[in-house]
Amino acid sequence: MLVVGGRKVTEDRSPQVLIKRWGGYWQAPELRAAGIAILCGAMVAACSHGRPKGATLSLRQPVTGSASAEIQAKASVFRPFAPKVKTFWDQDYLFVESNGLPDHRMMVGITAWQQQVPLPQDYTGENAWRIPLRPISATDLLSAKTHFFRGAIALAANGVPIFNPIKNDGVTDTYLAGELDEFGGHSGRGDDYHYHIAPIHLAKRVGKGNPIAFALDGYPIFGLTEPDGSPVSKLDEFNGHEITGKPGNVVGYHYHATRNYPYINGGFHGNVTESGGQVDPQPRIDPLRPAGEPLPGATITGFDRPRPGAYSLTYTIQRETRNLNYALLPDGSYRFDSIDGTGKTQSNSYRPRPARGL
Ligand SMILES: [Zn+2]
Ligand SMILES: [Zn+2]
Repeated sequence: MLVVGGRKVTEDRSPQVLIKRWGGYWQAPELRAAGIAILCGAMVAACSHGRPKGATLSLRQPVTGSASAEIQAKASVFRPFAPKVKTFWDQDYLFVESNGLPDHRMMVGITAWQQQVPLPQDYTGENAWRIPLRPISATDLLSAKTHFFRGAIALAANGVPIFNPIKNDGVTDTYLAGELDEFGGHSGRGDDYHYHIAPIHLAKRVGKGNPIAFALDGYPIFGLTEPDGSPVSKLDEFNGHEITGKPGNVVGYHYHATRNYPYINGGFHGNVTESGGQVDPQPRIDPLRPAGEPLPGATITGFDRPRPGAYSLTYTIQRETRNLNYALLPDGSYRFDSIDGTGKTQSNSYRPRPARGL
């Protein structure tokens, strides 16, 4: 048992076994009678990110019965991306921790660039993603055509958030506007990488029958086929539908990826809380540097990670090839080197603000 923000949670440390779930392809870990627990107690108030440091070890309270199988099935969706992506849970939520960066290359193919770059984010502890364990059908359905232009509406299995395909002006389809890379993502004003369309490329990684993402209302998002591989039947306006199936093989309500709008969940079939134009709560972004401006005419052509913590973005503008190299330095700051076609370099350094709560 781990205590995060006053909530008792359980960490995913279990080995995997197959269980019958959503078409019989779900992988879930074997439930252990007891595991390692970390007690933080009164220390929580002093923890900047909720993940207690210097905590003592004890036996955890096992989650038992069918509820635990459901939790394990949900947690298992993220397991192909462990240990970079971690899960833990309490009675209400599956918490997902990540740095928000996928292992594929990023930004290549963008033709409408705002000069933002991908930087690791601190989606951990109290700032982790929250997936409701037991989604509840909403009586008031909220469409992403008119709501949720800020923040994420779903979380991909690789720990990368998925935003509304329509950007925060309420009109522009980011995919059609050339704002997305070859994987359907780009970096936001906080240098936070996110997708705006379904990450269909994850279908191979998660394995047949598993969702590629979860909407933030808790319902799964499957790829271009049903969990059993059959063609997708009629979808509602949010890209979702209910499949009852045979006893013991129940899929229930779920969303699908599509190649055209809405690409992902086009709203929420389930209950969510909207605050300030976004699903609440969800992780906060702490921008490292001021937001960039659009750079008309630029096309991003390359992205490399020359060493851990270092990145190199290549782009062309007016037939000139430029680079933006940036790297984490030993003192915790980031150095950005902007190199033009003649080799002229302009450098900037940015130091992260103190951790939240300090
Ligand atoms: Zn975006
Ligand atoms: Zn379906």
